[in-house]
Amino acid sequence: MLNSVRENEYRNYYRTDSAGRTAANRMFSNTPSYPAAPDTDKTVLSGLLLALVSLTLNKVSGWCGNKLMAGKEFTSAENSKKIAGEMAKNNKLNVITDYIDHANKGKYGAELAQTLEPVANGQNAFFMDKALRNASGEIKGLAVAPKSKPSLMLHELGHAINASKGGLLKFMQKTRGFVSYIPTALLLLNGVKNDPDKSNFIERNAGKLGFLAFLPTILEEGLASIRGVNAAKAAEKAGQLAGGVKLDVLKRNYFFAWMTYLLSGIGLGIAARQAFLEKKHKNS
Ligand SMILES: [Zn+2]
Repeated sequence: MLNSVRENEYRNYYRTDSAGRTAANRMFSNTPSYPAAPDTDKTVLSGLLLALVSLTLNKVSGWCGNKLMAGKEFTSAENSKKIAGEMAKNNKLNVITDYIDHANKGKYGAELAQTLEPVANGQNAFFMDKALRNASGEIKGLAVAPKSKPSLMLHELGHAINASKGGLLKFMQKTRGFVSYIPTALLLLNGVKNDPDKSNFIERNAGKLGFLAFLPTILEEGLASIRGVNAAKAAEKAGQLAGGVKLDVLKRNYFFAWMTYLLSGIGLGIAARQAFLEKKHKNS
């Protein structure tokens, strides 16, 4: 049941980018390649530039990831859990929330234990819709955060709320499963009505289309964080939290997480353009 919404909050999402490129490479691996003619210099140069931008994006994304990893908790573990409880209650979420460490990572079985390993290490958190079936046959979602970083739960429950709303929000959540196919899909679509003399709309806008494909994910991620921050705000206002609450710390942590998604979107756009450049280069 690991094929539902999977979160990798800390993981650099450039897997998307390289997966897209790999798919494109595979697609053209059987095309005979010819030595580049002088008029393809521009294509080669564009390719190098894109590779450079891609490398820079990776660096910045890694930096954001490190900032997130080093981010402190904005409040006590008890407060984070209390806010999470309020989110679940107020939105009637059909979700099991759990805080994972190495002692309890095995409780959902061997398959999930593997997925929970980075969570136990404090490097990941996720929400999975309809992940579990309990003894009475009831299907429930699962939201997990590291025991050492319970504040991540608020963002994950933001996803759970988005999923519970159904419709467009749920659809936006699901699109991320397809993004690695985007560069190849654009190439295929482009090939359907390919005019060798004139580059068509898809080819000219491959970068923008690649980014657009990731936009629902970027927006849904942002909304999940906003829901988490708002729940923390509401709990503080209602006087439900003991001790200090540093909302700016929570916002900063979530901002760095969101940045990695934004950069991944740009990365996907670049991957899409690279796929077309590669094709152009091979065909020339
Ligand atoms: Zn998320």
